[in-house]
Amino acid sequence: MSNRRLILVTNDDGFHAPGIKALAAALEALGDVAVVAPDREQSGVARMITLGRPLRARPRGHLRWTVDGSPTDCCYLALHELLPRAPDLVVSGINRGPNLADDVTYSGTVAGAMEGALLGFKSFAISLDGWPPKHYEPAAEVAVRVAEVMLSRDWPRRSMLNVNVPDTQGAPVSGFRWTRGGLRDYGHKVTVRHDPRGRPYYWLGGDRLGHHPLDGSDCDAIDQGLVAITPIDLDLTHERLLDALADVDVPGLERR
Ligand code: MN
Repeated sequence: MSNRRLILVTNDDGFHAPGIKALAAALEALGDVAVVAPDREQSGVARMITLGRPLRARPRGHLRWTVDGSPTDCCYLALHELLPRAPDLVVSGINRGPNLADDVTYSGTVAGAMEGALLGFKSFAISLDGWPPKHYEPAAEVAVRVAEVMLSRDWPRRSMLNVNVPDTQGAPVSGFRWTRGGLRDYGHKVTVRHDPRGRPYYWLGGDRLGHHPLDGSDCDAIDQGLVAITPIDLDLTHERLLDALADVDVPGLERR
């Protein structure tokens, strides 16, 4: 049994993506690194968990597995079955492209860190801005710095960090800001085309997304060339609304 630190790494771009390779290599500076990642791209699957079919985990070397499932499947399987001991940290990424504002609700990368947090581990997700980003090393360096901060402190349960790194074309990143989720403009575009049989098919989403300014937001920080680090609470209860609803009745039901 090793006393060395163990860090679990996953992602949603798949085991062979450049971002997860750069991330795992950089985190080796802090301890042993286990990689349990989807065997193919799972971007946009959010918190999908596979319950209706068996999962296969294929060994890919020492502390390396691919799983034919989602990032959530990977974390669940790693933390309950595959890893030789409990990890000190779970890191998901480095995603190809940003996960800003409401992206966190679609992102498989963020979902991987959410699973780590829900299962009781310190966790963060990290994504690299740009489309497509090419230089992952500066973001991997940021991951090591954030990992050091998390490892050296207590963190509240059911919380995680969502880290977005500006694309500096390979130059070191200079600054960061603690941020809140911003307001992205998704464009709501649907492209309709027709297949060779004349039936319509659809592509969701447009080109690169814009955002609306919001003080202290992750979008604004990335725009200014800063690393954006947003703390996320997995308790989704809207406390203020819960208070405001205290006197509201639902017709036909007794409030108790
Ligand atoms: Mn992705």
